Parts: sequence; C-alpha cells; structure tokens
Amino acid sequence: MNQNVVKRLPALSGTSGWEAISNRSVPVQSLDDNVSADWLIIGAGFAGLSAARRMSQMRPGEKVIVLEAGEVAKGTSGRNSGYMIDVPHNLSSGEYSVASECVTALEIAQNRFAISFAAAAAAEYGMSKRTFDPSGKINAAATARGMKLNAKYGQSLKGINEKHQFLDTREMQDITGSSYYLGGLYTPGAVMIQPADYIRGLAEGLSQKIQIFEDSPVLTLGRKDGRWIATSRFGSVTAPKVIICVNGHIEDFGHFRGRLMHIFTYASMTAPFKKEAGYETWALLPADPMGATVRKITTDQGSRIVIRTRFTYDKTVQVSDKRIAGIALEQRHSLEARFPHLTGVPFEFSWAGRLCLSRNHVPAFGEIEDGLYSACCENGLGTVKSTLAGVMAAELASGAQSEQLEKFMDQPKPTRLPPEPLAWLGVNAVIRLQELRAGREG
Ligand SMILES: Cc1cc2nc3c(=O)[nH]c(=O)nc-3n(C[C@H](O)[C@H](O)[C@H](O)COP(=O)(O)OP(=O)(O)OC[C@H]3O[C@@H](n4cnc5c(N)ncnc54)[C@H](O)[C@@H]3O)c2cc1C
Repeated sequence: MNQNVVKRLPALSGTSGWEAISNRSVPVQSLDDNVSADWLIIGAGFAGLSAARRMSQMRPGEKVIVLEAGEVAKGTSGRNSGYMIDVPHNLSSGEYSVASECVTALEIAQNRFAISFAAAAAAEYGMSKRTFDPSGKINAAATARGMKLNAKYGQSLKGINEKHQFLDTREMQDITGSSYYLGGLYTPGAVMIQPADYIRGLAEGLSQKIQIFEDSPVLTLGRKDGRWIATSRFGSVTAPKVIICVNGHIEDFGHFRGRLMHIFTYASMTAPFKKEAGYETWALLPADPMGATVRKITTDQGSRIVIRTRFTYDKTVQVSDKRIAGIALEQRHSLEARFPHLTGVPFEFSWAGRLCLSRNHVPAFGEIEDGLYSACCENGLGTVKSTLAGVMAAELASGAQSEQLEKFMDQPKPTRLPPEPLAWLGVNAVIRLQELRAGREG
C-alpha cells in the first residue's frame, strides 16, 4: 500500500476567547473503530464543514465522515476575528487593492456566494444574530495616511459601484465611544460572526446527517485497491474519495511543499465590562491592512473588546506563550490608546492562530491524486475563502459541473517560495516593515 505518514499535527497557541465564551452542547465523539464511508473529509474548519454540508446536499443518503484532529472550534476556524468580508481584502498587499474590474467582480461574486452559503446554514441551524450578524464593517483610520488609504479604497469601490459610506471623526466617536479615529469607511456586505459559535453551530447542525469524529487526527493516509485508508489513533476510515481541508497542514500530508507560507496572527479579548459610550457592537478593520482589527461584542455578561494585531512567519505549528504574552502587551497599549477608560479592564484571553498564504494568492486546490482532493490555503480570509473552497471541492469530487466551479478551477498552482532561510528572512522583514509603517493604525 502507498502510504503517507502525516508529518505534524496541529497544536493550539493560547486559549481562544471566542471558544472559551462559547457553549458546547454535544459531547466529543472520537473514532474508535475501523469503518468505511462514501466520503471522507479531513479537518472540521470552515473548509471541511462546508464541504461536508455541500456533499450532504448533493448526495443525501451517502455516508460522509469528517475526521478532526482536535475539538471543533478550538482550532483556527474558531479563533479568528470573525469578519466574513465580501469586498476585496488582500492581506498580502500593502493596501486593500482593487484589481482589474473583471477580477474584482469575480472575487466579490465568489465571496458573496460563500457568505450566502454560510447564511443559509446559519438560518437552517437556528444561529442567533450574536453568532451571525450581517452588520457590515468599518475600515477605521487613525492617521492621515490611513485617511488617504480609505479615500483611495472608497474611490475604487465607487468605480465598481459598490455601496460604501464615509464616516467622519464625530460619527466614529458616536459608534465606538473613542476619539482615536479620524474617520471610517463603512461597507455593508460583511457578516460578523462569533467564530466558535458559528463553527460549533455548523458542526452540530450537520451531525444530524453526517458523522464528525473529534480528537481523531489522521496519522497516515494511503491507497489500496482503489480506496483511501486514513488511520487515526484508535480506528481508520476507508473511502473511495477523500477531501483534505487542513489548510497549511496539507504540506504535512506531503503536498504543496515549499509553496505555502505559514503566518501566525495574534488576538486578545478583554474581560467583560459594563455598557458604556458607543454602540453595543461594532467591527473595525484597520485602514492599513497591517494595523489592528478591533471589535466590540456585547453578551449577557457585558461588553468585551477583541483586538487582533501582528503577523509572523513561522515554520512551527505553534508559537510560545512568551511570544503571545509579549504581543498581548503591545495590544494592551493599542487598546488603552483607543479606550483610556478601559485601563482597569484586563485581557482575559490571548491567543494566536495559523494562516496559510501562497505567493501568488491562490488556493492549494484540486484533485491532487486519484480520488484525493485539496481545499487548502485560504490566503488569510478563510471565513469566506475556505467556505468557498470546501463547497467547490465537494462539487469537484462529486463530479458536479457549474460555471462557478469552472472559474474557481481556472487558477494556477501556488508558486514556489525561495529556499529557507531566505523565505523566512524575507517574509518576516517585509511584514515587520509594513507593520511599522502602519504606526498608530496598529
Ligand atoms: C487571530 C485570527 C484572526 C483571524 N481573523 C479572520 C477574519 O476576521 N476573517 C477571516 O476570514 N479570516 C480570519 N482569520 C483566518 C481564518 O481563521 C482562517 O482563514 C480559517 O480558519 C481557515 O479555515 P480552514 O477550514 O481552511 O482551516 P482551519 O481553520 O485551520 O481548519 C483546518 C482543520 O484541520 C484540522 N487538521 C489539521 N491536520 C489534521 C489531521 N492530520 N487530521 C485531522 N484534522 C486535521 C485542524 O485541527 C483544523 O481544525 C483569522 C485567523 C486568526 C488566527
């Protein structure tokens, strides 16, 4: 049997606040037997669960199994900032560039398709507005440079007839309760999710139709007599077709090696505080993409601020508590600069999570071996891009044909990175320079 040993398994970096404040209502079920299925999906994040949902829609009655290495919602899908963004949002460029009209129109259509797929799941599984909130988001500017970036972005949105609204200093203060921001650019199409609740809700809703095994990492994946066999610690799954939805871990399965960048980003969530000035919930992206993402959420326990900053390129699957604590200290300064009255409110949770980017901004997608499909490498915006990739992989694997799939397939493979340590040095140097240039936006 041709068999790949999975080189490394995911590991958590810090405790995600989103997951910690989310309730889980079903017990963890792990794989403890040798079973077979029509479809095996590896990974239960946005990509894996979306693939599973699409497959169960197209092939009702067929057996779909999802194997997840950890617990649903504890990994990156449950620990992000929760911005499902429809308009262009290119993390690896120095600004939210709008490319040619044609490329942009396709990107927006794809993002909106993914958001509507998620919205249908949210409605079907009874998710609340606190979990899935189509509130839009604001690109907030705290510097003259940020204002210029917003003006330029607004200009390009106007050029493609996309709704947007500029907000002045006063309006930003009314919304956020902070005088830190000079202005903002509101776009209405973003959905703000509580990521852990959304991923849990999706898994729980799906588990009526499919089987999800948690704490069941795939340790080897091989092929015998035309069927794939995935082994875990206490059992195995045999299936004719497998969809791998493990984001950057696809390299650990032996595919796309030397083509993917593994980038950590960092977040902290305050303890709850009493309602104060400003709206109960709002969501700010930095006008400069390398700045701070800041959200306010309000639950029955009170309000909390969630702040995300910094990117680091690391070859490891986990970053140290020391690194997380150091960045949390920087985030404390960012928080207090914006909300001096919150000085006494501590961070309750600080964590990091791993993104996967390719140099040419394309996913690691497609049939990579006979009956083996990849829906990996989300290029930083996985709430939508991985949702879309999961749906597209399920359609490709089941032989469905659509214009949407054809367009999605019409992308090159991720290009090779320079050899290490050049890639590490180069990527980290560029990131750090861009972060320093972001200044007060961070
Ligand atoms: C702090 C932070 C903020 C972010 N903010 C945003 C945001 O606002 N908007 C946005 O769009 N994106 C954001 N992201 C990125 C987003 O979280 C990711 O793009 C998204 O989670 C990718 O989803 P995925 O399903 O492709 O991969 P993942 O979420 O990484 O899911 C892959 C799953 O595969 C599992 N797996 C791996 N190896 C194995 C194995 N051997 N066997 C079984 N299972 C395995 C993992 O445990 C994991 O659950 C943020 C990320 C972080 C860390």
